[in-house]
Amino acid sequence: MIYPIVAYGHPVLKTKGKDIEKGEMDVKTLVDDMFETMYNANGVGLAAPQIGKSLRLFVIDTDPIDEEEDQPKVKKAFINPQILDEEGEEWAFEEGCLSIPNIREDVNRKPNIRIKYFDENWEEHEEEYDGFVARVIQHEYDHIEGILFTDHLSAFKKRILKGKLANISKGKVPADYKMLFSLKK
Ligand SMILES: [Zn+2]
Repeated sequence: MIYPIVAYGHPVLKTKGKDIEKGEMDVKTLVDDMFETMYNANGVGLAAPQIGKSLRLFVIDTDPIDEEEDQPKVKKAFINPQILDEEGEEWAFEEGCLSIPNIREDVNRKPNIRIKYFDENWEEHEEEYDGFVARVIQHEYDHIEGILFTDHLSAFKKRILKGKLANISKGKVPADYKMLFSLKK
């Protein structure tokens, strides 16, 4: 099932997600639906708040951005994740977000992370990631903390984007997937 993707301006995107309890819901179906929704929108990551669910869950499927680089393709669901460590010299990368169409901006993040999470079979994992995969995980992890990539921008950049962001929240944005706008009349 493909969910509409919640657009910038909806309060669920600014809300910290709740942990999922084992057996509380059909988490496998939810994960499948999130992958389907993400692929339909050509995304590399999708967090539960982006489909209107205030839960600590996100999915990613990264294709290596640069064939030269030795980056793995990672397809995974992260349930109740906790980033345990973020290390290294911050690097800038242009991020986008399915909830904020047509806006891309450089965001600074640390390159190395260690994360603990459950998969959709409730197996617990602790893993390390770097580079682009770490970047996608950090972006999605922010979502379940109620943080958007635009929150990381300078006051100056935020001021420049204010009008565009207001338009997105009102539904004045072209997107080739179904979206949910909180302020659309
Ligand atoms: Zn996003």
